[in-house]
Amino acid sequence: MGRPCDIIVVGAGIVGCAVAHELARRGASVEIVDDRPVGMGATQASAGVLAPYIEAREGSPLLDLTVRSLAMFDAFIERIGADSGEAIPYHRTGTIDVAASDAELDALRATEAVLARRGVPALMLDANTVRSEEPELTDRAIGGLLIETHGFVAAGALTQALASAARRRGAQLVEPSRVRRISQRHGDLIVETDRGSLTTGAVVLAAGSWSGGIAIDGIKVTVPVRPVRGQLLHLAWAGTPLRRVTWSSRCYLVPWDDGTLLVGATVEEAGFDERTTVAGVRELLAAVNDMLPRASAAGFLAARVGLRPATADELPVIGASIAMPALMYATGHYRNGVLLAPLTAQLVADAMLENRIDPLLAAVSPSRFGDL
Ligand SMILES: Cc1cc2nc3c(=O)[nH]c(=O)nc-3n(C[C@H](O)[C@H](O)[C@H](O)COP(=O)(O)OP(=O)(O)OC[C@H]3O[C@@H](n4cnc5c(N)ncnc54)[C@H](O)[C@@H]3O)c2cc1C
Repeated sequence: MGRPCDIIVVGAGIVGCAVAHELARRGASVEIVDDRPVGMGATQASAGVLAPYIEAREGSPLLDLTVRSLAMFDAFIERIGADSGEAIPYHRTGTIDVAASDAELDALRATEAVLARRGVPALMLDANTVRSEEPELTDRAIGGLLIETHGFVAAGALTQALASAARRRGAQLVEPSRVRRISQRHGDLIVETDRGSLTTGAVVLAAGSWSGGIAIDGIKVTVPVRPVRGQLLHLAWAGTPLRRVTWSSRCYLVPWDDGTLLVGATVEEAGFDERTTVAGVRELLAAVNDMLPRASAAGFLAARVGLRPATADELPVIGASIAMPALMYATGHYRNGVLLAPLTAQLVADAMLENRIDPLLAAVSPSRFGDL
């Protein structure tokens, strides 16, 4: 330990790996520090859904961020696939948001109108069309909204590929260590870990839900990211495969090429407790049974759990620290860390290596939480 490098990235989740790859690709010497294996934080639980028009509200900066990141995804997957030599399951088959009541149908019509004004292709489906698109859905579905541009990606495979691609570009994964403190000394940053200290020119803090646990010298408040637990089921589905990601008011379903189905996800304030629970599994089983009557015949493969890194305004924190300008935050991606990975990597690399500050960074600046 102790070998100086240009930039240390703290956290090997999808955000840290995407940033590390982009920095290394542009020529920086990069080290990644994590006490877990690659992608074993929130990222391993992620459903990998890429759906800005369901996740973000009109008028929120989150919509601008997620729409811009989605537009980068085709090229991102191609680049990471080529750079890593690994296959990344990725589909842009759209989403269907299903309504089971008049109120839900009205809400979908309102979304369709908003999307029409934006020029985004979206189609209201009647009950018959919903069932011809997805024959296994409950006959209580009275309509749906098909949003063609949405999709999904295997978040675990993408993160492994990002780590491999970063390594091929010269980035190094430091032996497993937990970062405790970051301080400044003679123009360098010192990253103190439970295995010793590392010296570097700059740090990217991409530690997800645990970001606030790292002490930053000279900064009284740490970045206010809290864990929001999400549980998700993995089922061996034996019925007609779903064509695309399908949402109801209670859950969403992601159909994989191998015939399995992900059912997500709970949203729970449970602190740093990373256990699956009977209540969580029961809630998801009830929701999927409601949506797919034949779900009770599916095989139960696994229940997954992860801690989404959330902020009070549900926007990420991306930008340089005011008190320690060589420290860059890239955290707080909450429900959309996979979707936002390409854009986050680009914004961070532009700012750190080319001093280009994208106007979008104003909305996600750490300064909105004080002198971080
Ligand atoms: C059930 C569920 C479903 C989801 N579905 C989707 C979805 O469909 N689409 C989507 O876009 N997003 C989804 N998300 C959100 C997404 O998973 C997260 O936003 C994303 O994984 C966050 O990535 P990250 O790299 O910031 O954090 P993480 O993946 O949590 O990585 C942080 C890393 O930092 C490391 N770390 C922490 N502290 C330290 C330290 N002190 N020293 C060293 N290392 C440290 C951790 O070990 C961890 O590996 C979902 C999340 C959950 C839980």
